[in-house]
Amino acid sequence: MDTLWTPWRYAYITAGDKTGRAGVPAALAAWPGDTGCVFCNLIAATDYAIEQGMPRDEAEAAGGLIYRGRDCFLCLNAFPYTSGHVMVMPYAHRDRLAQLDTETAHELMDLAQRTERVLERAYRPHGLNFGLNLGEAAGAGVAGHLHLHAMPRWTGDTNFMTTVGETRVIPEDLATTWKRLRAAFMGDKG
Ligand SMILES: [Zn+2]
Repeated sequence: MDTLWTPWRYAYITAGDKTGRAGVPAALAAWPGDTGCVFCNLIAATDYAIEQGMPRDEAEAAGGLIYRGRDCFLCLNAFPYTSGHVMVMPYAHRDRLAQLDTETAHELMDLAQRTERVLERAYRPHGLNFGLNLGEAAGAGVAGHLHLHAMPRWTGDTNFMTTVGETRVIPEDLATTWKRLRAAFMGDKG
């Protein structure tokens, strides 16, 4: 079988809150706004919760935020393809790499390098996928806000997919992944 393997075609999906604002986890639903973007909502709702007095760790765990840099951040994919599936992206709502200023572009790559190290240490994978889809035609689930997918891979980890189609076994829940990668990222010294 010759298949184009594009796990990042799977949309970043959250259940959303009662008002249907995408990207706003239930625990952060006090935030009153809606930017219309999953990722901008995620950051704004997390910041709002912290401003309102929620402990930073608690708010960032609720938002799946693993690490926040100056211009870019790292978060869990709420609909992981494999354990440890994360995304690196700018805070700025941009849909092309060429739209990022130099500092932001460099930080994106710096975080990608750190993510590679951390995923290797935390998950001992056989390989890694890093992928960036620019535009809906390229498979971007959230086309307006670019995000670099990163995920550990193991030999044979998709073998069953050909028989069960869209059903994937994710052996680790998001809260566990967050704790594991948060600790690993905080301990990463290069
Ligand atoms: Zn956005």
